[in-house]
Amino acid sequence: MARVELYDTTLRDGTQMEGISLSVEDKLKIAQKLDELGIHYIEGGWPGSNPKDAEFFVRAQSLRLTNAKIAAFGSTRRAGVRAEDDPNLRALLDAHTPAVTLVGKANAEHVRLVLETTREENLAMIRDSVAYMKGQGKVVFFDAEHFFDGFRDDAEYALECLRAAAEAGADCLVLCDTNGGTITSKVVEAVAAARRLGAPVGIHAHNDADLAVANSLAAVEAGATHVQGTINGYGERCGNANLVSVIPNLKLKMGIDCLSDEQLARLTEISHYVSEVANMVPNPHAPYVGASAFTHKAGLHVAAIVKAESSYQHMEPELVGNEKRILVSELAGYRNVLTKLKERGVDIPPSGEEARRLLEQVKLAESQGYQYEGAEASFELLARRSQPGYEPPFELKDFLVVVRRHSEPERGAAGEMLAEAAVKVRVEAETLHTVAEGDGPVNALDLAVRKALVEFHPTLEAVKLVDYKVRIVDSPSGTAAIVRVLIESTDGEHTWTTVGCSPNIIEASWLALSDSLEWWLVRRLGEKTE
Ligand SMILES: [Zn+2]
Repeated sequence: MARVELYDTTLRDGTQMEGISLSVEDKLKIAQKLDELGIHYIEGGWPGSNPKDAEFFVRAQSLRLTNAKIAAFGSTRRAGVRAEDDPNLRALLDAHTPAVTLVGKANAEHVRLVLETTREENLAMIRDSVAYMKGQGKVVFFDAEHFFDGFRDDAEYALECLRAAAEAGADCLVLCDTNGGTITSKVVEAVAAARRLGAPVGIHAHNDADLAVANSLAAVEAGATHVQGTINGYGERCGNANLVSVIPNLKLKMGIDCLSDEQLARLTEISHYVSEVANMVPNPHAPYVGASAFTHKAGLHVAAIVKAESSYQHMEPELVGNEKRILVSELAGYRNVLTKLKERGVDIPPSGEEARRLLEQVKLAESQGYQYEGAEASFELLARRSQPGYEPPFELKDFLVVVRRHSEPERGAAGEMLAEAAVKVRVEAETLHTVAEGDGPVNALDLAVRKALVEFHPTLEAVKLVDYKVRIVDSPSGTAAIVRVLIESTDGEHTWTTVGCSPNIIEASWLALSDSLEWWLVRRLGEKTE
């Protein structure tokens, strides 16, 4: 089977999408998952463009990646400057990545209007920048911006730009459909022309004509060996080529060996994980990985559906880690959930009473708006709580939260918000009453509960909340809007995420918060004292 290199740009192009903003921590977590999925190159960002991306590259050096190499993105040198004096190229080198992606113009009109330089100088910019980076020992991808529009208007010059990059040693010439409006037959034509230069060719397609996945696959059929895209198709305007669709099409439909079977089976999980971290609602109708992708809503007898299964779905959902859903019974397919729990040290026999009770709880929680893909610590607790003899390390008996807006001038700025929480917590055999003030109601609750817990577990001081995300979800019953809160915590060594759902934002926050503390006390403290 032919090889195709997968290049993910979720962390750069994907973050251009309206509504997506990723912290450095988020980006590192996503990079780790992309590596687990088996992506070959992960573009981390544009180090010359903002300090957040520069910080990502510093911290990415301590990621332990087994499959992927990190790439830094930047443009070719400026007109009239030597490559070694160009600040942008300097920032790329400072990112210390094995690969760099240089974006350059491949469109004669853009050279004149945007770069305001000559056609010859643009070629020299490409040649010098690629050669300089090769001289520094980098894997160099040349992203030919607006290539397809350039090829349509002036094919000879567009190919001239590619040739300049190829002659300077670029490892791959990546043809970009930057405006995303190219029709598939034109992509095939241009890829074939680029292939004649003899260097490896790649594709970077945007989705403005809803053709990004089709164009990427057609480019591969025409000889491209490198595909760029993003998880869930995130990206500016209508998005980028969706790798979550590209990958199974390449592997299952075209027989191209881009990932192992085990990696492919994690596609659904990782797609959902990235949407949770990006705080985007997963699309239930997404091909391959959507919750409805293999849902059978037939008003038939179950046995008939089971018999006719293969005639109603284009492939086995398990291959991409999804599952068939038959709406009369949602319990099918939870076996992999049990396998996953086993990996985390919670062993539940799949056919016993315990499994049945857990599945009932999962169903109940889902009906209340819970989703566990991005919150494995809460899921693990759910499983632990369903086991006989589980003793929670603490229990919140009661809480009262007061929020007050002060306007007395002696309290500082007019309109200062004050929050105070009073809690009653049972720890071991004792019941404690504590009170704390905080920046907001959730912070006050957190501080009050910790006050009680720290008396018993002083090392809990190390646990810090690093991220807090709120999303409104429609309750599956359609009766009320539900708030889902995701909290990410760290003890300096590990990070974990927990979730809480309620129509009340304080209760939802509390549920996520108490899961975070409980998980740490059960798992991490347990490990340390063992
Ligand atoms: Zn792009």
